[in-house]
Amino acid sequence: MYPQDARANWHTGQGLWSHVSPEDWASSKWQLRNRLTKVEDLERYMTLTKEEKEGCLFANRKLALAITPYFFNLIDRDDPDCPIRRQVIPRSEEMQVSPEEMLDPVGEEGAMGVDGLVHRYPDRCLFLVTNVCAAYCRYCTRSRLVSNAQGYDFHPNFKNAIKYIEEHPEIRDVLLSGGDPLLLSDKKLDYLLGRLRQIPHVEFIRIGTRVPIFLPQRITPELQEVLRKHGPVWMSIHVNHPKECTEELSQACERLSFAGVPLGNQSVLLRGINDDVETMKSLVHRLLMMRVRPYYLYQCDLITGSRHLRTDVRKGIEIIKALRGHSTGYSVPQFVIDAPGGGGKVPINPEYIEEINDEEIVIRNYEGKQYRYPLSDKAKVPFDFEKAGIEPVLA
Ligand SMILES: *Cc1c(COP(=O)(O)O)cnc(C)c1O
Repeated sequence: MYPQDARANWHTGQGLWSHVSPEDWASSKWQLRNRLTKVEDLERYMTLTKEEKEGCLFANRKLALAITPYFFNLIDRDDPDCPIRRQVIPRSEEMQVSPEEMLDPVGEEGAMGVDGLVHRYPDRCLFLVTNVCAAYCRYCTRSRLVSNAQGYDFHPNFKNAIKYIEEHPEIRDVLLSGGDPLLLSDKKLDYLLGRLRQIPHVEFIRIGTRVPIFLPQRITPELQEVLRKHGPVWMSIHVNHPKECTEELSQACERLSFAGVPLGNQSVLLRGINDDVETMKSLVHRLLMMRVRPYYLYQCDLITGSRHLRTDVRKGIEIIKALRGHSTGYSVPQFVIDAPGGGGKVPINPEYIEEINDEEIVIRNYEGKQYRYPLSDKAKVPFDFEKAGIEPVLA
């Protein structure tokens, strides 16, 4: 499915759009204007399955359909199970609702400080600055909020949210999300970051975005300058599958890094897309090679119509277990469940503690071997220099 040589990224080129001028292709405006948003757009280039066609006709009333030409090129049009395809092309299953599913699965509406600002944790907040994305992930946890509106603008309540942050000195960390904050113009982003930097208690600013993956053309020298100017600005990108690690994404990450932006990645565990050890291992290694540190692996939220994409939590634990110790520590994300109803992110870990009592902790390493670390404070004896072969230096 993907190149065996991990150093080789896909160079997708212009693919189906080879007739377009390189200037247009490299323009984020062109990419946005030419997104595939209707069943007819998709059918011009590929044969949809019955499930996909139904999904395109009905599901986009629930969550917009939009795919940038750049990202569409990554789809294997001959493979209905293509991991890229399943992330962005609607399917009829999206119209089926399971009883456990919700429209606001992580209880954000109940934690709104003001409209458009979720203040769940003591020292940080989630600021929803826009309601549009470059393309739409079919498992979007915020499908209730995002739309395919053509105007890229601030969340209407932007001013109230800034005021809320100003009035809450405990907020030292602001996470910009949406929608996708990188769809704001450079000018607006510059203003927004500058405005946040004026608030003395805001220490840490980060942006959650999938733009580098859907629209790497947006990461321009001008954007680099905005991010550098207000830095440090951290960024969490959202890559799910190694096929997304193209030459274009790699260059976008390089530009972000060179602008001083520390990069993390958030993946969602998705059935048939990345819920196996080999895929995930390949993904995290590729991320490291692009200067991106895997941050979170999310159990898929219980968003309405996502059952066909959700996978068993035990699969996630198995993946983490296969990474920890077997591969670079930097490559291992924290697996989390964003607790249904508003509990926030809860870490889910493989069990390494066998037993813990007043005497000792019994632990198991990545190979399954058992080790003991004593906890008791046993009687002390003087250090035996002679036994250690050290010449004592006496005053
Ligand atoms: C994820 C999230 C954050 C950030 O959490 P971190 O663990 O610091 O990445 C903040 N607020 C809300 C509401 C979130 O969902």
